[in-house]
Amino acid sequence: MPSLEMLGSFTLSPLKIDEIVTRKGPGNFALGYVENKVFYVRYIGRADEDINSTLKSWVNYREDCNRFKFSYAPNARAAFLKHCEIFHAFAKGSGLSEKDHPDRPEGSDWTCPVCDYFSRPQPES
Ligand SMILES: [Zn+2]
Repeated sequence: MPSLEMLGSFTLSPLKIDEIVTRKGPGNFALGYVENKVFYVRYIGRADEDINSTLKSWVNYREDCNRFKFSYAPNARAAFLKHCEIFHAFAKGSGLSEKDHPDRPEGSDWTCPVCDYFSRPQPES
């Protein structure tokens, strides 16, 4: 397995998030569960502004995601690049598909460092 380079995993609860994620700012996170001490990634996400509140919006949202890992990013662009990189590294083993490809923040023209997703015609949603 490639490395997420994140802290955790921690229980995905508002209390734990407030205890651990104390800085307000952009960041990356992975959601999943632990079995036999192995963290299984089920979802990969990022926050462009506030990793703490974004994580809280995922509490009790998915049954197979009760743990999280996270990392702070120096800015939204760094969070976007890391999001793309982890997505491509982990997608196959996590049940994620092309349609789950990270979006870029509205109004930006950033492109994926790994694939040409943003220069291809976008699939109908
Ligand atoms: Zn890509």
